Amino acid sequence: MGYPLMTQGEFHKKRRSARLAMSVPIRVYAIDFKGIDFVEETSTVVVNHHGAKIRLTHQLLPEQEIRIQSLQTDQEAVFRVVNRAGRSEDRFTFWGVESLEPTNNIWGVGFPRPAAADQRLVRSTMRCPVCHWSETLYLDEPLVESVQELGGLLRGCLHCGLTGVWKPVPYSDS
Ligand SMILES: [Zn+2]
Repeated sequence: MGYPLMTQGEFHKKRRSARLAMSVPIRVYAIDFKGIDFVEETSTVVVNHHGAKIRLTHQLLPEQEIRIQSLQTDQEAVFRVVNRAGRSEDRFTFWGVESLEPTNNIWGVGFPRPAAADQRLVRSTMRCPVCHWSETLYLDEPLVESVQELGGLLRGCLHCGLTGVWKPVPYSDS
C-alpha cells in the first residue's frame, strides 16, 4: 500500500486571493500520463487569481505544464499541475493547477482580497429559487463539488423564510 502523496502548496501557503466556486467552460491542451497529446473541453470547479481546480476525464501528472483556454474570455495561459484534488468520480478526476503567468488573469473576474475564511473555504454565490435573493456562502471543497454535480443546494432562506434548491450564480465583483 502506498502512502498518500504530500504535495507542497495548498496547506502551507497562505492564499493570496479568494477562491470562487465558478464553473467556467475551458479547453485544456495537455499530454496525458501515457504521453499522448489531448485536447479536452471541460470546466473549472473553483478559480482564483493564480490558479484553479479543474475537472477532466484524462489523467495528468503533478508538475506537468498544461495550457488552459477560457471559452468565456477566449484568453489562455500556461498552468502547472499542483496536485490531484478532491475525490474522483467514475468519469472525472479533479486537478489543482497554478498559473505560470500570474499577471494574466484569464477568468475575466476581479478577485476579492482574502478574508480569514478564504484560507480554508471557497466563496460560492447562490440564489434562492423562491425570492431570488442571492448570497455569497463559504463552502468546503467537497460541498462545492457536489453543488456543481447536482446543480444546487437545499437551503432555507432568511429573506423569504422558505426552503428550496439554491442554484449557483456567477460571482459578481460589483
Ligand atoms: Zn428566498
